[in-house]
Amino acid sequence: MSLLELRGVSYRYRKGALALDDVSIAVGEGQSVGLVGESGSGKSTIVRLMLALAKPASGQLLFEGAPVTAATTRRFRASVQTVFQDPYSSLDPRQRIASIVAEPLRSLGIARGDEARTLVTASLASVGLAADTLARYPHEFSGGQRQRIAIARATVSHPRLLLADEPVSALDVTTRIQVIDLLAQLRESAGLAILMVSHDLSAVAALCDETVVLNAGRIVERGATGDILSAPREPYTRRLVEAVPRLPPL
Ligand code: ADP
Ligand code: MG
Repeated sequence: MSLLELRGVSYRYRKGALALDDVSIAVGEGQSVGLVGESGSGKSTIVRLMLALAKPASGQLLFEGAPVTAATTRRFRASVQTVFQDPYSSLDPRQRIASIVAEPLRSLGIARGDEARTLVTASLASVGLAADTLARYPHEFSGGQRQRIAIARATVSHPRLLLADEPVSALDVTTRIQVIDLLAQLRESAGLAILMVSHDLSAVAALCDETVVLNAGRIVERGATGDILSAPREPYTRRLVEAVPRLPPL
């Protein structure tokens, strides 16, 4: 059984064309799935639907094999967390890091006070940030550090699935590799399942066992990431693979 699944989902923004057309995508416990496609192909729309922030026009969202209901909403919210692309706009500049990272604990009613502080400190440590981070503000940190803070916030409640929408696209190359390594570590140590969304196949290649390729709201190809990279079947996927920057050897 999948942890989270979209089954045969179509979606249309108001007055817009069909943004998703019969999309099925599933992430199992501990699995890492890459979702790639050009800008505008519908990747973020898939994430919105997987977070139950929008309702599909047809098809279903299934959490642990069943639609999310009033009775399962809290469990769903605690299990599925997100990291977005822009670490500048995703952290409230007026809040201290301690308060930012504790947000899911407050909103889900998981912990407060000393207990919350302990969890927040541990989460910051797991992304490589020291306890002196707690009292500081977002503007004191670089883009890569902010993305670590966003990951600490997303994982503080020990979710089972992380939906990461272009989490490294705004970062420079070195920081990008560090953040992907961090996600791989969290996957290993916490058994975290990850849906990694990117227009850049190289970001997905380092982290994901399986890759799904989206073009204009439709899935055109899916398979083991190694196979997709080495032998893409669709011309569209081939173009994405060819666009992967080749880094010079060190
Ligand atoms: P991606 O994340 O792959 O770049 P999106 O899911 O953001 O793609 O967008 C998919 C399609 O839906 C695009 O054609 C985009 O213009 C359209 N779209 C996205 N958000 C909205 C919106 N709020 N209102 C209308 N159309 C939208
Ligand atoms: Mg997007």
